[in-house]
Amino acid sequence: MPTNPPATVNHCGYCGASSYHRVVARDETGAMRYTETLQCTGCNRAFTDLQDWRRGGQAAQSTTAAP
Ligand SMILES: [Zn+2]
Repeated sequence: MPTNPPATVNHCGYCGASSYHRVVARDETGAMRYTETLQCTGCNRAFTDLQDWRRGGQAAQSTTAAP
């Protein structure tokens, strides 16, 4: 039984980098915390959703072009 289905794409849709990291920022108390923002290690683009990183913004373009 395959644990990694081929449909699961896990690389940047812009630059093809295979990794990203979660952005760390200080909260109101001054503590370093992980935010909801993800940043590609290849092109440094920021994303709030892993799907956006994978698609490289294609989803947003297709929705605006939809009838
Ligand atoms: Zn990238």
